[in-house]
Amino acid sequence: MRIDLHTHSRVSDGTDTPAELVAAAAATGLDVVALTDHDTTAGWDEALAAGEEHGVTVIPGIEISTEHGGRSVHLLGYLIDPTYEPLVEELGQILAGRSARVPLMVAQLQAEGIAITEADVYAQSTDAAATGRPHVADALVALGVVGHRDEAFDRFLAWGRPAYVDRYAAPLERMIDLIARAGGVSVIAHPWGRTTRRTPSVEQLATFAARGLAGVEVDHQDHDAATRAELRAVAAELDLVATGSSDYHGTGKTGHPLGVNTTAAVELHRLLERAAAASAASGRPAPVSLPPVVLR
Ligand code: AMP
Ligand code: FE
Ligand code: FE
Ligand code: ZN
Repeated sequence: MRIDLHTHSRVSDGTDTPAELVAAAAATGLDVVALTDHDTTAGWDEALAAGEEHGVTVIPGIEISTEHGGRSVHLLGYLIDPTYEPLVEELGQILAGRSARVPLMVAQLQAEGIAITEADVYAQSTDAAATGRPHVADALVALGVVGHRDEAFDRFLAWGRPAYVDRYAAPLERMIDLIARAGGVSVIAHPWGRTTRRTPSVEQLATFAARGLAGVEVDHQDHDAATRAELRAVAAELDLVATGSSDYHGTGKTGHPLGVNTTAAVELHRLLERAAAASAASGRPAPVSLPPVVLR
């Protein structure tokens, strides 16, 4: 079974519609794909319908912007009840922070002498429930200021560059709790990918595991071979599920094709067992019933 548990559609900062993404997953030979748009579940229905059409099992997920100790942590949530009100409220705050940031980024780009407007940004994010820096990057591409998203990040949008603007992220531990109470399971995305230092530390990961974190994304393009080996050992020691995924963004992010990393079936089964337990403990219904071949 080929399993990819981390992908983005146009509902956040990917470039495929959810249906196109699932069709592409089928075409590339994936059996299971999770849609994990940033901070929104708005793409789920379309992806699930496309899964039925193409014979691919779609696992509904989300990648939530959180912070811990002043650092950004991306937390994947799977099989949550998307109507759980405290979670909906927290996601609303994150999305509001994304929207509030757009005019600030535009103003800083204007200060750099670039004739860009908010309308230019929103013209690039017509299908998106979550507006992000990649849409600003796309606007800069459309205006001919840069050639590609990567160049927009390198010159203007990355941390420390002139149009970087911070935004609200939810406290990580609160979000681990909320995902469990919503009947789902949480997995830290690319935990050691963004800095050369191993943060969160092993001790912090142990604390999160004790609090209900279900897994860590081990196989990700942002982790080199040594990092993957170390993290896999930590996952085994802490009894965390070890996943592997592409973090596909369509043509929006180079080097992340669908299925470039995959999750072992045995790890998916452990994750789904924990999701079933969370659903039972919380009393929140699972958003989909998965086919026996996946649950086995
Ligand atoms: P935001 O969520 O708005 O803060 O933007 C972060 C998103 O930008 C990440 O989820 C990535 O998908 C994307 N991103 C970060 N760096 C780059 C880059 N160099 N090229 C393209 N996309 C990037
Ligand atoms: Fe992204
Ligand atoms: Fe991420
Ligand atoms: Zn992602």
